[in-house]
Amino acid sequence: MKKNTAWNDLLVEGEVAHAEPAASYRAGCFCGAVEVEVSGKPVFAGYCHCADCQAWSAAPINAFSLWKADSVRVTKGESEIGTFSKTEHSDRKFCKRCGGHIMTAHPRMRLIDVYANLLKGYTHEPTLHANYASKMVSVRDGLPKYRDLPADLGGSGEMLQD
Ligand SMILES: [Zn+2]
Ligand SMILES: [Zn+2]
Repeated sequence: MKKNTAWNDLLVEGEVAHAEPAASYRAGCFCGAVEVEVSGKPVFAGYCHCADCQAWSAAPINAFSLWKADSVRVTKGESEIGTFSKTEHSDRKFCKRCGGHIMTAHPRMRLIDVYANLLKGYTHEPTLHANYASKMVSVRDGLPKYRDLPADLGGSGEMLQD
């Protein structure tokens, strides 16, 4: 798979539109040059404790919300978006002006992680902690803690203690 996939290549065919108007939320980079809009609901949301998220976010935990690729739209500053792909599974999108992170596309899953912290008006409703084996901090919130990922997402499904 080629690296630095163009944004439009990540978009998949739209599904049949729902009857109800979908809620939408905007996320912007640190300087405001780039904005994206998501609509509907994330496929799922949670926290990731993996080493890559820790390094990329410069934070111990990444609050992720995974959206279908076709429900994420760049509304401002598309030409300011830089992409870094450490592996072919993650195309990390950032603002070339301010360096602020915006989202990470996962082409294999056809999902896009729009960082939950950035979505205005959105209520983060996490259901799990992923990659808890490499946690830097413990979170005693009662949510399931996966060593890596749930089995239906390609992980071992193994659970760890808080
Ligand atoms: Zn910016
Ligand atoms: Zn991660």
